[in-house]
Amino acid sequence: MTAETTVYKAERVWTLDAERPRAEALAVRDGRLLAVGTLAEVRAAAGSTAREVDLGRATVVPGLVDAHAHLHGLGKSLTTVRLEKAPSVQDVVWRLGQAPASSFQGDWLLGKGWDQNEWPGAAFPGRAELDARFPTTPVYLMRVDHHAAWVNGEALRRAGITRDTPDPRGGRILRDARGEPTGVLVDNAMDVVEAAIPAPTREQLETRLRAALERCAQVGLTGVHDAGMDLQAFRTLQAWDAAGTLPLRVYAMAAGQGEQRHTYLEQGPWQGRHLAMRSVKFLADGALGSRGAALHDDYSDEPGQRGLLLLAPEELEARAQAFMAKGFQVCIHAIGDRANTLVVDVLLRGAERTGTQALRHRVEHAQILRLEDIRRLGAAGLVASVQPTHATSDMPWAETRLGRERLKGAYAWRTLKDAGAHLALGSDFPIENPDVLAGLYAARTRQDAKGWPEGGWYPEERLSAAEALEGFTAGPAWASFEEARRGRLKPGLDADFVALSEDPLEGPAAALVDARVLATVVAGAEVFRAAG
Ligand SMILES: [Zn+2]
Repeated sequence: MTAETTVYKAERVWTLDAERPRAEALAVRDGRLLAVGTLAEVRAAAGSTAREVDLGRATVVPGLVDAHAHLHGLGKSLTTVRLEKAPSVQDVVWRLGQAPASSFQGDWLLGKGWDQNEWPGAAFPGRAELDARFPTTPVYLMRVDHHAAWVNGEALRRAGITRDTPDPRGGRILRDARGEPTGVLVDNAMDVVEAAIPAPTREQLETRLRAALERCAQVGLTGVHDAGMDLQAFRTLQAWDAAGTLPLRVYAMAAGQGEQRHTYLEQGPWQGRHLAMRSVKFLADGALGSRGAALHDDYSDEPGQRGLLLLAPEELEARAQAFMAKGFQVCIHAIGDRANTLVVDVLLRGAERTGTQALRHRVEHAQILRLEDIRRLGAAGLVASVQPTHATSDMPWAETRLGRERLKGAYAWRTLKDAGAHLALGSDFPIENPDVLAGLYAARTRQDAKGWPEGGWYPEERLSAAEALEGFTAGPAWASFEEARRGRLKPGLDADFVALSEDPLEGPAAALVDARVLATVVAGAEVFRAAG
């Protein structure tokens, strides 16, 4: 008895293997690639009993991996009230009124995705608009960037937030002229309310994770690097992995901010079948949209404001080194240039003190950097985990926030790569859409889906088609120590690949906007197949 062998043939197969970049078929056995080459070669290797799957005009590429994303967050946003593109506060309240039962956690009503920049006046909303419709139901609404929350009076009451509550370190409770909390909480102030929300039930968590994984498979992802997983979600995925029912590869970073970090640290790095936990995620600062990103100099559009460091630098350094010493890869969120200076310091000094230069420490987002920090990051060969669609989402207002000079080192993928950084691309879903083809498109064009701005936003920082594709395949494989198993297509490697309706390597970038995922294969198993 030999194991079943399957031959996949397509219009073209891009292997990203320098020895044989293009093929027309591949054979899969036992979850691995048995052969990659011409149809005749692959058939010969597979033997006469092999099953054959004809992918027609499709282009096959190595499995696409999102190097920075949040599975539970995606599942939550798929099952609670969606506020993206809400044109007004009134519309938000109307949408909340239609909330499905899955939007409640305990008796809290949850929603996500509002953005005051889309509303007339662009001012932050307040609790009053929510109180009128929801006087006794606590309401918690996350901003589109996850770095601010808008809540009602009942939520503030349950969280114990009053005019006398001081701002927590790394957070702000917005207040009106009389000193009363307005209902908007920035960065660490969100935690105060989140602590009052009952944990999701086990069933709720499972539903959300399943929904997220299913969505990922639909968009062509064979793997996800989860940037800060809480223990409850990790235990759930661990159980699925043991049972063989975890469909995608999940490279989990332990959530490093809460008390649970002690449990992770004690447990040490852990490797399952499709699930790994050998890295930890910390946050150095907030985000640009809510002016929480920590800058060296004032925001160009708000004098006196330089953003927030979420932890004291000594504390961040101590935590990072504790995890390094235990053999964890350390990944730190850094958006603003002040945060990036600190994080490069912390990672380089920590690696040296703990002798863990080989642990491929990562800067998550690496969004706005001084040029000297780009040089340091690159020279040390750190991983720059960047999100192409963040640039195209932020480009309408980023220059107002930062000014032209600072933009030279912002969303600077080309400069980072040329400096020696290992690029790993992602979406940061659910902050952005999980659509990885949109990420490939943004990386190549630095334009929105309509082709704006003409020629691309700071086009000198664009990536080539090959670099963009590597950024979602071989790049994440390197960033997760899996380059000997995945990221390219060649015999012996894991059979993780995706079939697309368009050619992301030699086809025009614009074709990616409407491109479709035809099949997603993980370890030889089809986890998604388009209908028809
Ligand atoms: Zn993130």
